[in-house]
Amino acid sequence: MNSQIALIQNIDALLPQTQCGLCGHRDGCLPYAKSIVAGEDANKCVPGGQPVADALADLLARPKLKAEESVWPIQSDGRPQRMKAIIREDECIGCAKCISACPVDAIIGSGKLMHSILTDLCTGCELCIPPCPVDCIDLVEDTKEIPTEIIRIQEQNDLRQRYYSHIQREEKRSIHRKGPIVRAEIDTELFAQFSAHTSNVPEIKRIEKAKPTVIQQDAKTTIELAKLRTQIKKLEKQLSVREDANKRTQLDELNKQLTALGA
Ligand code: SF4
Ligand code: SF4
Ligand code: SF4
Repeated sequence: MNSQIALIQNIDALLPQTQCGLCGHRDGCLPYAKSIVAGEDANKCVPGGQPVADALADLLARPKLKAEESVWPIQSDGRPQRMKAIIREDECIGCAKCISACPVDAIIGSGKLMHSILTDLCTGCELCIPPCPVDCIDLVEDTKEIPTEIIRIQEQNDLRQRYYSHIQREEKRSIHRKGPIVRAEIDTELFAQFSAHTSNVPEIKRIEKAKPTVIQQDAKTTIELAKLRTQIKKLEKQLSVREDANKRTQLDELNKQLTALGA
């Protein structure tokens, strides 16, 4: 294994593995680790906070920088407050968009059925919130005890494994995808390269895609979905002011169409 790959792995081992993208790297911790080796500042991991920024500075023998600030208060271990997502299940329309968006596969449910979050696995990365068309996902403080260093490293290793499994599954689904594409542009090449060098993650095999057909279909679906969402929002706004049986029926019908397109 060459020394650059080893250094990227050592940096990645210090990163929280929430794959949240708050460092500016949409595909998560590994691309940020790679970019740090290429010279990017090592203080940008928001959930890692000051402890991770300092640990990276030590590893790389670089000056210590102030960590990128989080919107959440700082816990006693110097990291930002851990959060969890929860679905208001009675409002969930079962569109399954959140499933594809969750990098660690912490959401269960199938098309047209209510979805739930496996709280123990959720990192509070917030990536499931924007794709939810009915805005029924909330973030709450994680009230569990702050993990010890050993438990945190175990958690990080589990999350890394789950993310690689997620990438491999999404890679396969991208060929005969029926569900919504929420986060389809993960650079699988980088992860495939590292999975071949890392013993404790599933190996990622890249799959050749028939791109032109898939892109055309997706664009059509995306436009259709956007139209439906606009109509739904309008109706919901009107219904929040005054109940109307006809409008309620229309809304139900539109939600069914939305679910059918997303299924
Ligand atoms: S956990 Fe840190 S390094 Fe990983 S994606 Fe989020 S901000 Fe980036
Ligand atoms: S359930 Fe949502 S907040 Fe929790 S890990 Fe998955 S995407 Fe992130
Ligand atoms: S994106 Fe929202 S509405 Fe769709 S399944 Fe997930 S929680 Fe339910």
